[in-house]
Amino acid sequence: MTALSDILARQIALTGPLTVADYMEQCLFHPAHGYYTTREPFGATGDFVTAPEISQMFGELLGLWAAETWLRLGSPAPFVLAELGPGRGTMMADILRATARVAGFHEAARVVLVEASPRLRAKQAETLRAYPVEWVERIEALPPGPLVLLANEFIDALPIRQFVRTPDGIAERMVGLDAAGNLAFGLRPGARLDSRAEARLAVAPPGAVLEICPLGLSVAATLGARLALSGGAALLVDYGHAGGFGDTLQALYRHAFDDVLAHPGQADLTAHVDFAALARAAMGAGARAFGPLPQGALLQRLGLDDRAFRLKRAASEADREMVEAARLRLAGSDEGQMGTLFKALALVHPALKEIAGFAPG
Ligand code: SAH
Repeated sequence: MTALSDILARQIALTGPLTVADYMEQCLFHPAHGYYTTREPFGATGDFVTAPEISQMFGELLGLWAAETWLRLGSPAPFVLAELGPGRGTMMADILRATARVAGFHEAARVVLVEASPRLRAKQAETLRAYPVEWVERIEALPPGPLVLLANEFIDALPIRQFVRTPDGIAERMVGLDAAGNLAFGLRPGARLDSRAEARLAVAPPGAVLEICPLGLSVAATLGARLALSGGAALLVDYGHAGGFGDTLQALYRHAFDDVLAHPGQADLTAHVDFAALARAAMGAGARAFGPLPQGALLQRLGLDDRAFRLKRAASEADREMVEAARLRLAGSDEGQMGTLFKALALVHPALKEIAGFAPG
């Protein structure tokens, strides 16, 4: 039990069960007890380690992607260099360091971070104190103009709803209370979805779970429309799949998987990203999509091996081993490695027929 369990139990007793999305939203962003509002979960002491925290190589290679993309756009000045959900600000710091020698890039870039947590904004300000940086709370508030946007492990933190095929039709998975008054999952029958999703669930096996991330789809559609209107490209990196069924909601508590309902506000909650749905939403709004491509393949094409080689050449023996371990962790395909579990989707202005790291579209 946590402080937030009590609050949510009282709320449910008063107003009825929560959708999984409402539950996730409260757990992650409750103003007093939310996971992202109260802590800084990334890095060795937190609950999980993200790619930019594993090695500087990740942000540096994405910096090269950003610079190549900017050149491909015709070096617009000014342009908006944005990141969604920057965490501690590590990736943007690596991007900016890696692009310092790209002529005109820093001068033209207006760096804007999209971050909902005031606490993490303060951390980002500290990490990026050497650079002029602005913050907005929502993607819709990004300043106008050509856009080069990056995001790592942002969409997986956005709340999802879960729909289940039952013998009596489609039900929505809800968080309610059991007889003892503890948080418990239940089903609300009679759910309606769009006709495409309903048709897919109608032919799925009984018990199949379809996850929908309304905010993720809205971010993809907003980005798609924005890129089609003012030009630019976005790179979304996350763990996920290209469509399909399954309950992927998971809780991480002190480096271990946890019951999703056990520690609300103290455990990180995420769900796998449905890249096919994101690409459809962005294309529906006018953008072109590349990928999803496995993270390992993207990093290789952006020059991971060369970057690792150079870092190792300049390092002590212990550091060389660290660089090699990081290279494998970021790009390898074994269990515990991120190379195939994580994927990258690029959304671009429809006139862009090629984008760095991806096969031509
Ligand atoms: N990109 C970082 C952190 C990933 S965690 C890394 O790779 O280490 C997710 C980040 O997204 C956090 O910074 C969190 O506060 C932010 N975030 C989650 N949901 C958000 C939302 N709806 N609006 C803005 N930021 C959000």
